[in-house]
Amino acid sequence: MLGPGPSNVPPRIQAAGGRPLIGHMHPEIFQIMDDIKLGIQYAFQTRNSLTLAISGSGHCAMEAAFFNSLEPGETVLIAVKGIWGERAADICERIGAVVHRLVKSPGESFTLEEVEQGLAKHKPVLFFITHGESSSGVAQPLDGLGNLCHRYDCLLLVDSVASLGGVPIFMDQQEIDILYSGSQKVLNAPPGTAPISFSEKAQKKIFRRKTKPPSLYVDMGWLSNYWGCDGKSRMYHHTGPITNFFSLREGLAMLAEQGLENSWKLHKENALYLYEGLEKLGLKLYVKDEAIRLPTVTTVEVPQGYEWKDITAFLMKNYSIEIAGGLGPSAGKVLRIGLMGYNSTKANVDLVLVALKDALQQCHKNKI
Ligand code: PMP
Repeated sequence: MLGPGPSNVPPRIQAAGGRPLIGHMHPEIFQIMDDIKLGIQYAFQTRNSLTLAISGSGHCAMEAAFFNSLEPGETVLIAVKGIWGERAADICERIGAVVHRLVKSPGESFTLEEVEQGLAKHKPVLFFITHGESSSGVAQPLDGLGNLCHRYDCLLLVDSVASLGGVPIFMDQQEIDILYSGSQKVLNAPPGTAPISFSEKAQKKIFRRKTKPPSLYVDMGWLSNYWGCDGKSRMYHHTGPITNFFSLREGLAMLAEQGLENSWKLHKENALYLYEGLEKLGLKLYVKDEAIRLPTVTTVEVPQGYEWKDITAFLMKNYSIEIAGGLGPSAGKVLRIGLMGYNSTKANVDLVLVALKDALQQCHKNKI
């Protein structure tokens, strides 16, 4: 699976997921949940006490972030440079927030000046931006954004579903107030759990709201207790996905053993190796500015004279390799190749390059 996720699950994580089930209120699962919390704090580089895994996919964490931090009628500013900003805006509209969008073309990132203009104009209580924009293959620089938002009395919310573990991110140092990710990308666990964390500033806002969050399932008051973050004895809230907790804990342990710096370096090196090979095949990278290319998901322009679907189908049929087409605004324009966690190897790059070379020979529309 060399698409934008899920990525392959290594045997060690598979074995963890194969362990016998235990109860969702047993002391042993609470220990596992505490380990997960520590693993997320390490991966996010945060000391936030309100750090846990949502029982759901990345979208569920996205909803948890907005449902808890926004109230109807409040103003939110969303950076849109691909599909994830659009999804975020859609969620905020459902809440009844006043939604403003800051829009860039897919393949580009935002500058601090552009964000500052948006903050000054709209005076939002919350600003959303995607770190690893998996639809366009862009890694948004985050330095300075948290401080900027705080100067405008605004919280910073970042989506790191496709980037966590593959691209440096420092939640506390970069003053990110709410950060969430997913289990099925660099962490190489199955889909179904989503790390999330809230800064002190964010906690103040979410625990002082006037209205109840519109979802009981992702209400941070409940989840904070269920995850042992509020210092009180834990009460039943929902039946956690126990098997997925086993797998997520193992994925986080593997990342900690490898070390974040090593993981970031490896993702970068293998991405550069992939770019070189793609260019040798005559293919063009979609993101022109090398400095903002996302090492976990590479976007390649669909070459002239080819249908993207023919290429992805050819790779699947002849090489059992999954790569993906575009998504949202990049649909029809790009092919997306994912190298995440366990999948980020030179051998996988070689494999996908051989398969693509063959596809370029076999899939041309004018081929007789
Ligand atoms: N944000 C980003 C950047 C993503 O890449 C994805 C998954 N492709 C999501 C959010 C949503 O995650 P999920 O599919 O797990 O709901």
